[in-house]
Amino acid sequence: MSMSTGGSTDQWTGNSSRTLGAIATSIAFCFLLLAFYLIIRYIFIQRLHRRAAAAHEPPKLGLDPAVIASLPTFTYRKSSGGCSSSKQEELSSTECPICLSVVDEGEVMRSLPNCNHAFHRECIDVWLDSNATCPVCRATADPYNPSISVALTALPL
Ligand SMILES: [Zn+2]
Ligand SMILES: [Zn+2]
Repeated sequence: MSMSTGGSTDQWTGNSSRTLGAIATSIAFCFLLLAFYLIIRYIFIQRLHRRAAAAHEPPKLGLDPAVIASLPTFTYRKSSGGCSSSKQEELSSTECPICLSVVDEGEVMRSLPNCNHAFHRECIDVWLDSNATCPVCRATADPYNPSISVALTALPL
């Protein structure tokens, strides 16, 4: 009698421990799933935020400061007999088209390689920070990416 009772108790204990183990496993699995879901959700939200921030960022119209700095500069000389600098000859007027003040001798100028228009270095640097074209003729100021002038000159047949 007592033997059989004991046997059945052992059987029950075995069964319940097995059930407990299964429950523990499923709980652990649920936690894993939850953790996985939270990680995926976190990454997704981060990506959404980044995309929203990029969408709200205004497009940059000006040139890169490195590109502006790479544009040729020269010191303006009014009339030095026998000067053969082509840059100075290309300077059509002695007035800066941006600030409309007369260019004085010794002032540092910057010319745009695509159209050879010249300006005070400080004036054109400020202009190119928010614009990518020449303020006189609207040619692309970026010598490395003259896409606009190419599009205007090379017409498809
Ligand atoms: Zn100027
Ligand atoms: Zn120009």
